[in-house]
Amino acid sequence: MHLKSLTLKGFKSFASATTLRLEPGITCVVGPNGSGKSNVVDAIAWVLGEQGAKALRGGKMEDVIFAGTAGRAPLGRAEVTLTIDNSDGALPIEYSEVSITRRTFRDGAGEYEINGQPCRLLDVQELLSDSGIGREMHVIVGQGQLDAVLQSKPEERRAYIEEAAGVLKHRKRKEKALRK
Ligand code: ATP
Ligand code: MG
Repeated sequence: MHLKSLTLKGFKSFASATTLRLEPGITCVVGPNGSGKSNVVDAIAWVLGEQGAKALRGGKMEDVIFAGTAGRAPLGRAEVTLTIDNSDGALPIEYSEVSITRRTFRDGAGEYEINGQPCRLLDVQELLSDSGIGREMHVIVGQGQLDAVLQSKPEERRAYIEEAAGVLKHRKRKEKALRK
């Protein structure tokens, strides 16, 4: 299983429909500052169901819709389609190629499709649940995140490790209990 292509339409800086073809192995996206490299990564997180505006580097969910530039009017919807090669049958669906589409409108309405058929977010999550991608399963390391870890003070670094190990919530609960 590998990501085969990604099409962005009205998503962030991608006003016109843009398709990136991906091959198995490592893909690099290069370009000048502000050219939309991180927006491509945001699009992958978004089409897989990301619900948090902050995770998408925006203030509100509407910020994923092309907001217009000096020469181009804003758009009313954003749409992203991720096509996954499923020739090894890793996804539990009888197709060798699976396309997931997410669309959203300025009024907040949103929709998902699997291979062009309307579905719920839950269906997308279930499809991906054993595949290693999808909510909380793939890992996106954001710009500056590595620096933040390397430059952190020992106690901050300990918090990162505790969070990764899943013990931070227990420590917080313990501290709260001791304060009472
Ligand atoms: P860097 O190398 O600095 O990390 P980058 O290639 O990752 O840059 P992005 O962060 O992907 O760049 O793109 C930033 C650009 O996307 C900015 O110019 C910003 O104005 C534009 N942008 C973000 N959201 C929208 C939107 N909703 N509508 C139009 N443009 C947007
Ligand atoms: Mg970037």
